[in-house]
Amino acid sequence: MAYQSVNPFNGELLENFDEITDSVLETKIATAVTCFVTWRLRSYAERAVIVAKASALMRERVDEFARTMTLEMGKRIGEAKGEVQFSADILAYYANNAERFLANVELRPTEGEGHMESSPIGVIFGVEPWNFPYYQLARVAGPQLMAGNVLLVKHAGCVPRCAIAFEKLWLDAGAPAGLYTNLMISHQQSNRVIDDPRIKGVALTGSVAAGRSIAARAGQNLKPSSMELGGSDAFIVLDDADLEHTVKWALWGRMYNTGQTCCAAKRFIVVEAVADRFIDAFQTALAGLESGDPLDETTTMGPLSTESALVDLLEQVDAAVAHGAKVLMGGKRVNRPGSFMQPTILTGVKPGNPAFRGEFFGPVAMLFRVRDEDAAIALANDSDFGLGGSVFTRDLARGGRVASRVDTGMMFINNIAWSDAELPFGGIKNSGYGRELGDMGIQAFVNKKLVRYISAEAPL
Ligand code: NAP
Repeated sequence: MAYQSVNPFNGELLENFDEITDSVLETKIATAVTCFVTWRLRSYAERAVIVAKASALMRERVDEFARTMTLEMGKRIGEAKGEVQFSADILAYYANNAERFLANVELRPTEGEGHMESSPIGVIFGVEPWNFPYYQLARVAGPQLMAGNVLLVKHAGCVPRCAIAFEKLWLDAGAPAGLYTNLMISHQQSNRVIDDPRIKGVALTGSVAAGRSIAARAGQNLKPSSMELGGSDAFIVLDDADLEHTVKWALWGRMYNTGQTCCAAKRFIVVEAVADRFIDAFQTALAGLESGDPLDETTTMGPLSTESALVDLLEQVDAAVAHGAKVLMGGKRVNRPGSFMQPTILTGVKPGNPAFRGEFFGPVAMLFRVRDEDAAIALANDSDFGLGGSVFTRDLARGGRVASRVDTGMMFINNIAWSDAELPFGGIKNSGYGRELGDMGIQAFVNKKLVRYISAEAPL
């Protein structure tokens, strides 16, 4: 069953959903296309009424939204509530700022006058992952709907209830039919949606494998796309770091959302001079986490999203070990019902080990000791990914220099405060292209049109 809601805390099947038929899919595409005809003509103020209402409803129903997420993919309830509030912030941010971001830009040609204007391009197809079941949707819905586009969205197979809740949110907010449509479709149907000439752009957040497939398909159809893919972010600890402060971020940066975050700290690159002290403190912090019911506010570690995610992660750890890595702590599933993984540290991961270039999407940290700052930067850059990264040092200027030399889309100094509505989010290399959020996030699928006025006669 492709769309299935299962509680990873206890394995209980909550609900199965059928994929929609091709004829239902056709109706949904046609409804979205019809919606665009009038939605594109609405003013920013009119669009903002609906987007702001959706934001307000998310805040009003935070408990209900959060509970659905926790039951379906195991996010701890406190984090789940935070995600719902943040999703509401993103919607409100675009309701308030879209008109300013997309205002005409005056040009100064040598003759006459001109300007650039931004107009919506039509129906955009989003494909989204389960790890932030609402935030990922809000990241696309806020900017695209305010830009005047309309959305068809395929959410991940393991979070169908979240997908339905978010679609219902728009109807409750007063959106016209077809403005935001959830599609429970197969990968084959998804390909046909991308091929459909009525679809004008494709936004994916997901794995590198999905990115290769979906970007290629969009490219074949000459459609613009944005790709927010995986990462294996470096967490660089320099010799002058405040270790107490650093270890708290290390714990949060690796373990938030049970480690299932694209831009989580995944490779801990620590300068030799402080390595022993950092490792001891980090290990102690990880050992203090207790797995438990993610609905319980006091639980410090939740399950992984699905049993198959856990099985895949355990296989990845085994493969890393078979290629020479050492398990400093953890490495196994927790001996209890549910899809729980022990907090894990791997050392001795060398180039040639599949783990060196891979992504651990769960509570597994790779630890590297390096001689100095230059070696830390070289190792950070020796990655196929380029999403984010962080550097910890008491010297902010030094942190800035290191940040400039690491080849990623985002760098954080003395923190890993990944995401704000105002800040562009995204990566380079195998982490994809394009940016979501901030001003950049609303520019991805608009027509930047030149309009020029000139009084001269044709030069015959
Ligand atoms: P995934 O398998 O690629 O799934 C993501 C979405 O893509 C799901 O809706 C999935 O649908 C769909 N999908 C996958 N292959 C497809 C195909 N060939 N055709 C059509 N749809 C396809 O990713 P995941 O493993 O669940 O999610 C975790 C990955 O996402 C990690 O690599 C993580 O780093 C990345 N991520 C990146 C960001 C970012 O902003 N850069 C944010 C969050 C997560 P099904 O579920 O039906 O297969």
